[in-house]
This record gives sequence, C-alpha cells and structure tokens, in this order.
Amino acid sequence: MDIYAAPLKDQLFCLTRLSGLDDVQNLPGCEEVTAEFADAVLQESGRFASKVLSPLNHTGDREGAQWVDYRVATPAGFKDAYQQYVAAGWNGLGCDPEFGGQGMPKLIVAAVQEMWRSANLSFSLAPLLTVGAIEALTLCASEPLKHQFLPKMIAGTWAGTMNLTEPQAGTDLSLIRTRATPQADGTYRIVGQKIFITYGEQDWTENIIHLVLARTPTAPAGVRGISMFLVPKILVSTSGQLGEPNDVVCTGIEHKLGIHASPTCSMSYGDKGGALGYLVGEENRGLEYMFIMMNSARFSVGLEGLGISEAAYQKARAYARTRVQSRSLTGGKESVTIIHHPDVKRMLLMMRSKIEAMRSLAYVVAARHDFAIRHPDAAIRKQNQQFVDLMIPVVKGWFTENGQQITSLGIQVHGGMGYIEETGAAQYFRDARIATIYEGTTGIQANDLIGRKIGRESGATLFAVLDEIDTVAAELAKFDGDHFAAIRAALADGVRAVRRAGTYIAAQFGADATAVSVGAVPFLELLGIVAGGWQLARAAMIAQTEIDAGRSENFYKAKIVTARFYSDHVLSAAAGLAQTVVCGAPGALDMANDWY
Ligand SMILES: Cc1cc2nc3c(=O)[nH]c(=O)nc-3n(C[C@H](O)[C@H](O)[C@H](O)COP(=O)(O)OP(=O)(O)OC[C@H]3O[C@@H](n4cnc5c(N)ncnc54)[C@H](O)[C@@H]3O)c2cc1C
Repeated sequence: MDIYAAPLKDQLFCLTRLSGLDDVQNLPGCEEVTAEFADAVLQESGRFASKVLSPLNHTGDREGAQWVDYRVATPAGFKDAYQQYVAAGWNGLGCDPEFGGQGMPKLIVAAVQEMWRSANLSFSLAPLLTVGAIEALTLCASEPLKHQFLPKMIAGTWAGTMNLTEPQAGTDLSLIRTRATPQADGTYRIVGQKIFITYGEQDWTENIIHLVLARTPTAPAGVRGISMFLVPKILVSTSGQLGEPNDVVCTGIEHKLGIHASPTCSMSYGDKGGALGYLVGEENRGLEYMFIMMNSARFSVGLEGLGISEAAYQKARAYARTRVQSRSLTGGKESVTIIHHPDVKRMLLMMRSKIEAMRSLAYVVAARHDFAIRHPDAAIRKQNQQFVDLMIPVVKGWFTENGQQITSLGIQVHGGMGYIEETGAAQYFRDARIATIYEGTTGIQANDLIGRKIGRESGATLFAVLDEIDTVAAELAKFDGDHFAAIRAALADGVRAVRRAGTYIAAQFGADATAVSVGAVPFLELLGIVAGGWQLARAAMIAQTEIDAGRSENFYKAKIVTARFYSDHVLSAAAGLAQTVVCGAPGALDMANDWY
C-alpha cells in the first residue's frame, strides 16, 4: 500500500506566495509565524501524517470500528496514534493559548489539517469534532464552564462531539425533539435520541464531552427554540475530577459505505431519568451558536475534499508511472507505461489542476479568515469576513463534490485494479462520499450561497470579488505566449459567466426564490471553478516571474501548464453553467411531483 507524502512544496508555495503568509505574520499573535516556522511545522506534520496516520488508513478501513459487548472498539493502532497525536500537541494547534492551545493562525492550521485528511480521513474526524466543540465552547460558554472543560479538551485528554441529528431532524433542525428540563441548581436533565454521531463513543479518551442541541419546556417552536448543552459522558467535578458515568449511552454503530474506522453512533440520553447537562450560553440561542462556528466546521469538511483528492492523485500518479499497457500513439513497438496515453494524462491533470485550485483557494480563504479575526482595523476585519462568508459554502460544497469526481478518476486511472479493494483507490472513493452530506449537504451550501450570501446583500461582496478577479485577468495580458493568452481568455469568460448568473440571482432571489434555487448548485460549481481559476492564474504569473528570474524549475513550468489545462478543461464549463443558472428553472419546476 502506498504511503501518503505531504505535497510540501506546493503547500509552502500556496502559503508564502498566494495567501500572503508575510501579511498574516504581521497580525497580532502571529509574529512568530515566519516562512521558516511554517516550513518546520509542515515538515513535522508531514512526517506524522506519513509515518503514523497513513499506514493505518487501509488497515483501519478493512478492520473498521466494531461494536463489541456494548462498547466501541476502534481498529488496531488508532488509539496509540491518537496518544502520539495529542502528545505532539497537534490537537491544540489553533486553539486559544489561555486554555493551553498554541493559537496558530488558520492559515497554518489549514495546511496541517489538509495532511490529516489525506493521510487518514477516519482518524482525522475525531480531532475535527473535538476542535469544533472547543470552538463552540470558547465562543459561547460561560467562564466557569470554559475553565472546567477546555484545558483537557485542548490537551486531547477528553474528546468532543457534536450532537445535532435525530431520526426526524437532519437538515431541518427545527424538528429536534430532545428535551432539556431545568433543575433547581441551574443544570438541566437531557432526554432524547441522537443518531449518526461521529465518534459519539470510542476507546481513546477517559471522557467525551458531547455538545447536544435540545429544547427546554418553554422554548418557542422551530429553530428559535433550540438550546445548546454540554453533556459529559463521565461527570466532572468543578475542580476537574472525574466522577460517576452520566446518563448517556451509545446504543450501537452504523454499517456504512466508507470512513469505516470512524464510529458513527446512535446515542441515547436519559434512559435512567435524564443526563446531566450544562447550558452553553443562553437558552434558545443554540442554533445561533452553531452558525457562529459553522464557518470553521464547514471549512474543515471542505478540506476533506481537498485532502482525500490529493491522496487519490498520489496513488493514481504512482500507478500510471508503472503500469505498462498499449503502445504509444507517437510510435514504437513496445507497450508503454499508461502515463504516456493522452487520456491518462488528461485524467491525471484533471485531478491535479483541481487539487491545486482547491488548495490555493483554501489557503487564501484561511488567510483572510485570520484577517477577519485578528486585524486591528474593524473595517478590514469586516471586509475579510464578508469574503470568508461568501467562500465558505464554495469550499465546503465545491471541494467535497470535487473530492468525489477526483477519487472516481483515481479508480479510472487504475482500470480494473481500481475497483479491487486491495489497491486502496476504491477506499478513497468510498470515504470521499460522505463529505458532500454531513455538515450540510451540497444543496444546503448552495442555498446558503445564493440566499444568505448573495440574495440578502444584492451580490455586493460577490461583485467586489469579481472586480478583484478582473484585475488579475488584466495583469495576465503582460505575459507572453499561448498559455497565458488562453488562461486570460478563459478567466475573463469565467468572470463574465459569474457576473451574468450572479446578476440574475441578486435581481430575482427576492421575487422568485424557488426558480433561483433550481440553479443554486450549478452556481456554486460555477463560482468554485472561477475562484479556483483565479488562484491558478495568479500562480502561473508567479511561476513565470520565477522562470524569468532564472529559477526554471519543473515545479514552475508545471504550474503554468496546469493553469492552462484548467482553463481549457474546467473553466471552459463556466458559460454553460451560467446558462443553466439563468434559464434552468422551467425544466425543473414545470414537472409536477406526481409525474416523476
Ligand atoms: C457518517 C455520518 C456522520 C455524521 N456525523 C454527524 C455528527 O457527528 N453529528 C451530527 O449531528 N450529525 C451527523 N451526521 C448527520 C448529517 O449531518 C446529516 O445526515 C445531514 O445533515 C443530512 O441530513 P439527513 O441525513 O437527515 O438528510 P435530509 O435532511 O433528509 O436530506 C435529504 C435530501 O434532501 C435535501 N434537502 C433537505 N432539505 C432541503 C432544502 N431545504 N433545500 C434543498 N434540499 C434539501 C438534502 O440536500 C438531501 O439531498 C452524520 C451523518 C453521517 C452519514
């Protein structure tokens, strides 16, 4: 089984040349984050990903998490890997230093997280959920709760989970039925069932801190009546000592398509009268709190699409370099390695160009997120926050949809061997499938994009971003040659397409949200491919400048060719997608429900 190797050169290129690591370093609290520092962190996390997490990926898939004697048993090696992970301090990388975190900027955290997703997606979900819970508590909990729970969660001694979903309440959280009854001492008793809870039970940590959405008896109906509660698996005294088990149990785990090593748990709260829960923040503001941390959670899941695509690409590339089959179209009597065949080249470049587009866009969004949080000037914070808000559904939706296509191409490059489990290409395809579903399906990301992010502000942020991309398209005119002419033309066409579709959405959303929503997912894809093309065009210009300065490495030459490929094979779809957004409603809405 191939071992994942972190693509350090490209990651550092994206960090330092495209995302403005220097500017992030000037933000308060980021002073030590130099290029050398970033290099050292990435080298170390790359080593951990390759040596500890990647070797467990395939065995974890085969063995899977098991339900044995009413307990979850994670696959061999996972607990030990987790202990090494927390001992090395990776769990608290981006967390608040006040509670023991390292306070690293999101830009560095994004690059490191990408590696965990590539090396072992199932493993990476436990820290992902813990960090999500830490973030919710950091932003919304009272000071005593923070002091009682955060240090051990950040250290990784205790893990965290997110308990939203119930059998009748998935996308629509207004349907949540779990009840929270207030007690005289200010605590609550929680009673209800949650399903699909990732790492709701495991054998790695001495305690698990569940964040649970529930309703109090006086709560108004719908989403305005949901509160958030902290419910420990094992009760914790105010001084942090572990006590008796709480009234919450895992009642089983799911058999599922992928991410086999990650237990997906059914949770029962209050079988013995009620699990002890602590209110996080104020009653009835639970959904608002979820929204506060949603950017971060959705960004993290978007990185799953990127990370798993990189792993699939590495495997496909290695296979294409060694598998000998068929003679080359350019002549010769002997069969050649399949990387010589134009269609295999096309598949590999489709994978690679989208991966580089996603990586560069992800890191740019992460850097702007750092500006949105840390910059001293409120106007600059706001401007960056608007950019992040616009791009989060794209990172979540487009990246994870790409993850499916790219891992599928990974199988295709392998031919029949891709379909056979032993090669591992099929695992990436199966594992990638969930990322378009949890943390809000692609349809929900797209609704968020056209509604909350464009419709509500008449497209102001979108059009500002398009102006920014236009300046890059104009800059491309300064570069000679066919490649740059094609990149420039495709990017300009892409911007025109987004402008056309965005103008339609901004104008029509208030009048006919149903018609506009038919084109929501195509619009998300359109914005994704153009935003990705924007970053690849910037990368190509930087690469040419390096070549002109005498640094004619293959890395830079490949950057230009990759941007060219993307322009002709990916960006070229922009005009068609815009047409679908603007004209696609009647074909969907004129079909009566009972005609299907
Ligand atoms: C492996 C796994 C792990 C998970 N981990 C967790 C976890 O840790 N914690 C947790 O709380 N949950 C978790 N979930 C649940 C997950 O978040 C939900 O499955 C997801 O939000 C979708 O909800 P649903 O399954 O009820 O689908 P539904 O909400 O029933 O959706 C079905 C379809 O209808 C579409 N749809 C629904 N509403 C709309 C709308 N308004 N507009 C357009 N389309 C719509 C959806 O896009 C989808 O295509 C997990 C699920 C799985 C499978």
